[in-house]
Amino acid sequence: MTDRSDRAQRSWNMSRVRKGDTEAEMLLRRALHSLGFRYALHKKDLPGSPDIALTKYRTAIFVHGCFWHGHNCHRAKIPSTRTDFWTKKIAGNRARDERVERTLTVLGWRVIIVWECALRGSRRIGAQAAAIRCASFLRNTKDTKIEISTH
Ligand SMILES: [Zn+2]
Repeated sequence: MTDRSDRAQRSWNMSRVRKGDTEAEMLLRRALHSLGFRYALHKKDLPGSPDIALTKYRTAIFVHGCFWHGHNCHRAKIPSTRTDFWTKKIAGNRARDERVERTLTVLGWRVIIVWECALRGSRRIGAQAAAIRCASFLRNTKDTKIEISTH
């Protein structure tokens, strides 16, 4: 890759960085971009404003923080204080996620959930591996949803 296309890619990436984007999300975007995918971010006209929207594939990608979205994994332990509060809060988030996914499916969109533990932490599979799994989901149109995580 020449300097020029390196620079072009970097500025394309940078143009899409905004405050509040998580590191995990940016790792995945970069990996998808390097596989040749182009996407829209936080598309407001789609249910749930998906983190990444592959319009050409009618596929929405959400990068979910394991704690906030209630993943059943080592990174999502409910705190031992205010346990009720956290349990309800996270159950509410999960219910909303399910509504969003259903609505997207009804609209003919497919859904990829990438759990943060797939991208960060000791048990990660890494952004490159996650992006490759996204790519194989996009090619195989039988399924309407996949989740990518450590296990
Ligand atoms: Zn997780």
